[in-house]
Order: sequence, then C-alpha cells, then structure tokens
Amino acid sequence: MAKILVTGGAGYIGAHACKALRRAGHTPVTFDNLSTGWAEAVKFGPFVQGDLMDRAAVDAAFEAHAPEAVMHFAALSQVGDSMNDPARYWRENVMGALNLMEAAVAHDCKHFVFSSTCATYGDQDGVILDEDSPQMPINAYGASKRAIEEMLANFEARFGLRHVIFRYFNVAGADPDGEVGEQHVPETHLIPLMLDAIEGKRPALTIYGTDYDTPDGTCIRDYVHVSDLVDAHVLGFDWLAAGKQSAVFCLGTGDGFSVREVVAHSASVTNRDVPHVEGPRRAGDAVRLVCGSSRAKELLGWQPERSNMSDMIADAWRWHQSPGYAR
Ligand code: UDP
Repeated sequence: MAKILVTGGAGYIGAHACKALRRAGHTPVTFDNLSTGWAEAVKFGPFVQGDLMDRAAVDAAFEAHAPEAVMHFAALSQVGDSMNDPARYWRENVMGALNLMEAAVAHDCKHFVFSSTCATYGDQDGVILDEDSPQMPINAYGASKRAIEEMLANFEARFGLRHVIFRYFNVAGADPDGEVGEQHVPETHLIPLMLDAIEGKRPALTIYGTDYDTPDGTCIRDYVHVSDLVDAHVLGFDWLAAGKQSAVFCLGTGDGFSVREVVAHSASVTNRDVPHVEGPRRAGDAVRLVCGSSRAKELLGWQPERSNMSDMIADAWRWHQSPGYAR
C-alpha cells in the first residue's frame, strides 16, 4: 500500500481520485492551493495546503510524506479562459508541473501519473482519436498540457521518472455515494451549467455555436464518468508500481454526444425543462472529440461502469441538489 501525492486533491477529479486511492488501500496526500478546490473535499487522507509555483513548498511536501508516486491533477483547465489569458496557462500549468517533476526527481520518487487531455489533439475534422493521433492543440490549455507530456518524456530519458499519461475526454458525473462532486466558481462546464439552468440558478444555458458541421449543428464530445476515470488512475499507479513501461492512455467511451443531445438527456433524466438559448461559437472549441481507443481496457483492465449519459447526469443531478461544499 502506497503513499501518493495528489496535486489538486481538493478539486473535482482529484477528490474523486483520493477516494478511489483510499478504497484501494493507499494513502492519498492532497497538495492543493485551494484556488479552485475545497478544503471540505479533502476527506480521504492528509492535506498539505501549498502552491506548485512555490518550489520550496513542493519540496517540503515530499520531505514530510515521502510519496512513492505523484498524481498530478492541479491545473488551469478551461478552454475559453486559456484563449483569453494564454500566458497564465503557460506559466502556471507548465511551471507548476516542472517544479513538481524536479521535486519528484530530487526526492527519488519514480512514478508520475499525469492528467492530460484530448484538447492536445486540436480539431481534426471529425477523426476518431486514439493515443497515436497527432497532437495539434488549438488552444493554450491543450498546448500547455502537450508541453508537459513532452517534459515527462525528457525527464524519463534523463532521470528515469516513469509516467502514465491519461488523455481525458469530457469528465462528468459525481461520486455515486455523494461524498464528493463537481463544484466550480464560476462554473463553466456544460452539465453543471445545464443543471443550474434547470434549477433556475441561472436564466438559461447558452449553446455555444449551432452552425458546426455536425448532424444538429452543435459540438460533439465523449463523456466519461469521473468515478470510472479515477479508477483508471489507480490502475495506472499499479501499472507503474509493477515496473511496466511509461504509457499513454486515452480515457473516453467512444460515444459522441452533441450539446443538444446532452440537453435532451438532461431534460429526460431530471424530468424538467432545460432553459436554453443559442449563442455564438466559443473560441478554441473543436467540432468533435471522440475517443477511438480501447488501450486502457486492454492493457490496464479498465472497466468503466457508470459512463453512460443517464448515470452521469443522474449522479451530477443528485450532487447538484445536495448542499455541496460550504462556500
Ligand atoms: N458548452 C456550451 N455551453 C456552455 C458550456 C459548454 O454549449 O455554457 C459546450 C462547449 O462549447 C463544448 C461542450 O459544451 O462543445 C463541452 O464544454 P465543456 O466546457 O463542458 O468542456 P470542454 O469540452 O471545453 O472540455
């Protein structure tokens, strides 16, 4: 059983990962600056409040906890925001990861599990994507993540820091037990915004672009349940701990849903209307991002259980109706 440093462990995916690690018998040590995360979400292991841009704080966390592995979730992660403020994405995502990787090497920590993204692929005209697809990001978020993937390859060659890179498609849902969930301020993601609109917490969802070259004119994404996604991370750690080689895995289902289809599913699962209006395209959005890989299933033995649209929306809806984390 291992101690694992989880950056961003107070955030949406990181908190679910801590729960999955704890359930697998590991000790997740959360390292988080609480810029977007929630102290209340840190329920499954120790908490170190610190910033990845502060190398001394990162070193202190390694010294205090001597983790066997790192799971690196902490990052700025909004496509639109990254187009408005690209410098911040380059500075914080890349420098934060670099500090973490250098600290891992300095403290003889040899395993690094990294949250990457299908946004590293860019817009490939509807091609189904897999691990070997070329990476041609069209926004600063994707570009910063691709840069970190390249740094990881360099660090392995020079220092033997082995890695598993997960390229996520769209993560959705919440812990089926309701212990942790998705809560962002401000919220920017499709499903929670839609649930806000259903509850009247915002007037309407704006659909970003209805003139894309897709059957209903809206963007298509591949949604994966956060609980399934974090299960893959536990398997990714096992893979490295077993001495296997560095690897990249796409995490998606292979099913694409348009924005309008997600709206329709939400109306049906919640049995409520989804107030929505049509708006212009959002800068940096790819038309279609769908995963065409089964490598994670074949090599890691990953078995997604709740990554169907109904379960994802039902779990998100249950969390959405709970009090959530205190503000
Ligand atoms: N989207 C939308 N309205 C919103 C938020 C998102 O139409 O208020 C669309 C967005 O253009 C994309 C999809 O929903 O096609 C998923 O966006 P999200 O921000 O949830 O995730 P991303 O794909 O950017 O990682």
